[in-house]
Amino acid sequence: MKRKISILGSTGSIGKQALEVIEKLNDKFEIIALTAGSNINLLNQQIEKFKPKYAFANDLTQIKGAKVLSLEEICSNQENDIILVAVSGKIGLRPTLTAIKNGIDIALANKETLVMAGDIVMKAAKENGVKIIPVDSEHCAIHQCIKDIAQVDRLIITASGGPFLRKSTEEMKNATVEQALAHPRWNMGRKITVDSATLMNKGLEVIEAHHLFNMDYDRIKVVVHPQSIVHSAIEYVDGSVIAQLGLPSMHIPIQYAITYPERYEGIKSKSFSFSEIARLDFEEPDREKFKALNLAYEAGKVGGSATVCLNAANEEAVFEFLNGQIKLFDIINAVETMMNKHKITAEPTIDEIFDIDNEIRIKTREMMQLASV
Ligand code: NDP
Ligand code: MG
Repeated sequence: MKRKISILGSTGSIGKQALEVIEKLNDKFEIIALTAGSNINLLNQQIEKFKPKYAFANDLTQIKGAKVLSLEEICSNQENDIILVAVSGKIGLRPTLTAIKNGIDIALANKETLVMAGDIVMKAAKENGVKIIPVDSEHCAIHQCIKDIAQVDRLIITASGGPFLRKSTEEMKNATVEQALAHPRWNMGRKITVDSATLMNKGLEVIEAHHLFNMDYDRIKVVVHPQSIVHSAIEYVDGSVIAQLGLPSMHIPIQYAITYPERYEGIKSKSFSFSEIARLDFEEPDREKFKALNLAYEAGKVGGSATVCLNAANEEAVFEFLNGQIKLFDIINAVETMMNKHKITAEPTIDEIFDIDNEIRIKTREMMQLASV
């Protein structure tokens, strides 16, 4: 029987690759819905090719060839077996929760969902017997390594180190948008690529891992691994380390997440050769240059609304950077300032999370405007 799937964010980097996987495995999937933000042309091309029943985009009037439904309606539609949440930003949170409450399994790319509301989302998944299969390559690697989480002592998350790994702090401070977007290993959306340059992405991934695998922050380690061959590892209580390796490609984790627990050839990566790769390097992250990592651990350990603050301040500052308004280091300075000022709400509800998110975004923008006057 075909697995019925919807893709939220089918016009993005993850969404497009997911459709490539599905095209290759077309006898395994039926697409229920595809959604876009503003890229209506691409969405309409996808509708023509993949023939989903339903679609959504910011401008509903432009959708051709599929019935229009809201993200919430798509996520409460029981025709779905699984929903791939590949939108970027906070827009992913409410639809994901709706799908979970409707008992629909989730392939989760949108890390903001867990960074903003990991406690609520994981609790709802447990209560509704819903699987959340990670798409993020590190978490997908960990998911593939774990047999019994109770026997795992530590998670080891690898980081490529991004474009500034071998650059001086001074060079990184004055980096252009183009330099920050030139990721050496991965081709991703613009926001996550900037996060990879500051290592905030790794910080967000630590928080994501904490929620997905219910692991204390002290037992999640980040190690820099420039070749991006080891996608992450786990250490069992007896000291055995199991890692997942492969050539860097998001097709594989996407395919794993949407076909789990089956595995198919699908978009198979090039055959793996240890001797061709020859060497794998690992090093500690430079926590002076990549302060974002410390900020994320701090926010995670404090918990409550601290990670909402981290995420919102970071996203606003990244947009300002991409618009050429601030320097790369100002992103992390902005996040640190906002976090120092933030009054924590211990167990925020979803509505409170969105209120806090909004408030932090406004304050971050105000602060950055003041600083540039
Ligand atoms: P992109 O920016 O490439 O794509 C984002 C998608 O979300 C697009 O389809 C976009 O639509 C849609 N979207 C954005 N805003 C809205 C909105 N307000 N309403 C409806 N749809 C919207 O991002 P990525 O694919 O790179 O990343 C998606 C998520 O996956 C992020 O959370 C990211 O952190 C995570 N992720 C990505 C990885 C990667 O390799 N790219 C790896 C691991 C995680 P449109 O383009 O039509 O406006
Ligand atoms: Mg990742």
